[in-house]
Amino acid sequence: MNFDLSDEQKLIEQTAREFTDGEIMPVAGENSENHFFDRELVGKIAAQGFLGAIVPREYGGAGLDYTTYAIICEEIGRGCSAMRTVVSVQTSLVCSTILKWGTEEQKQRYLPLLCSGEWLGCFGLTEPGTGSAAANQKTRAAQQDDGTWLINGAKMWISLGNNASLALIFAQTDPSLGHRGLACFLVETDQPGFMPSEITAKMGLWASDTAEIALDDVTASADSMLGEVGDGFKVAMSALDSGRYSVAAGCVGLARASLEESIAYANERTQFDRPIAGFQLVQAMIADMVVKTEAARLLVYKAGSVKDAGRPSTLETSIAKYYATEAAVWCSDKAIQVHGGAGYSREHPVERYYRDARVTTIYEGTSQIQQLIIGRAVTGQDALKPMTVENA
Ligand SMILES: Cc1cc2nc3c(=O)[nH]c(=O)nc-3n(C[C@H](O)[C@H](O)[C@H](O)COP(=O)(O)OP(=O)(O)OC[C@H]3O[C@@H](n4cnc5c(N)ncnc54)[C@H](O)[C@@H]3O)c2cc1C
Repeated sequence: MNFDLSDEQKLIEQTAREFTDGEIMPVAGENSENHFFDRELVGKIAAQGFLGAIVPREYGGAGLDYTTYAIICEEIGRGCSAMRTVVSVQTSLVCSTILKWGTEEQKQRYLPLLCSGEWLGCFGLTEPGTGSAAANQKTRAAQQDDGTWLINGAKMWISLGNNASLALIFAQTDPSLGHRGLACFLVETDQPGFMPSEITAKMGLWASDTAEIALDDVTASADSMLGEVGDGFKVAMSALDSGRYSVAAGCVGLARASLEESIAYANERTQFDRPIAGFQLVQAMIADMVVKTEAARLLVYKAGSVKDAGRPSTLETSIAKYYATEAAVWCSDKAIQVHGGAGYSREHPVERYYRDARVTTIYEGTSQIQQLIIGRAVTGQDALKPMTVENA
């Protein structure tokens, strides 16, 4: 077992680190304060090749492996979770899904536009009444005589939904078929029936674009489906296998940022005539941050190596997502503690880290859903089954 990064990975890590320090860190706090989705910064991220890291070069991507992708997500996640969310949605939920399920024509049409950042994509699975039990889609798709599809319904909490030119929309084609009626459509958003509106009253991730989307007779062409009718749930789960991995990697960065801010502050702040870093109880918090950050990274790399070997990685991905997201929440919480009253103010980034970390144990499958996936794998008992329409 070799824990060392390759020379190429070290180089990409250095590039991503310098890019984050130079381009993301200086604006992350201000963008958050202004609730500003920084499209120009997204363009710079794309120019680095970070939006299509795992997409083969022939489709405009960087052709990197999953472990290197984690390194990029960690660095961007260290600087700004809103921007890391862009990377996760664009690269994992949208690009990797088109790569896996798309026809050659679909790949050639969309992947270069997405990898270059010319187009943004979004992933429309969650609905107002459908979250964890994702197979229970209320959005309906009906095929017309000419083969096109008309889609009606509503999507909720959709990252990049206001800026996306392409939306992966999950819908039920025939409720009597249950999960066998589910399908995923590639919907071009430049049409009147696609109506996104911004969700503004969020606890964190203020620099991210989050939308509620009304779908009113939205049209999708006859050849717009990813896979076939009945593949919709599998398409969604494969997308999340990649998306959860990138969230986990981003959370390693968020935990690391919390740790680095804490070390710097603890060495600078004095109480009782010495730096607070000299107190054992402060060191205990910092030591636990080190251990959790390190452990999270190793779990991410383990999942990455399984993915790079081409083996099924759902279990490893859920373990990494569950642990790394909870670690990011814990570390950012303790970073506030290390900062004392200063940590509770906007003067220091740690309060943003905490607010931004908090969503990661919720989106792309809550911590409880990850526990059930892990529990199912080791016990053989599927606690999620009654929740899907598979059993209905
Ligand atoms: C900022 C943000 C961005 C998002 N981006 C996207 C996006 O781009 N695309 C998208 O499709 N969705 C997105 N989501 C939605 C997100 O994936 C869902 O919020 C998440 O899956 C949980 O669904 P829910 O909110 O409906 O909660 P619910 O499913 O209602 O869950 C509520 C609580 O019940 C628990 N629970 C549910 N079922 C079980 C069970 N079987 N056993 C034990 N506990 C259970 C959950 O763990 C949770 O604690 C985003 C959400 C947020 C907040």
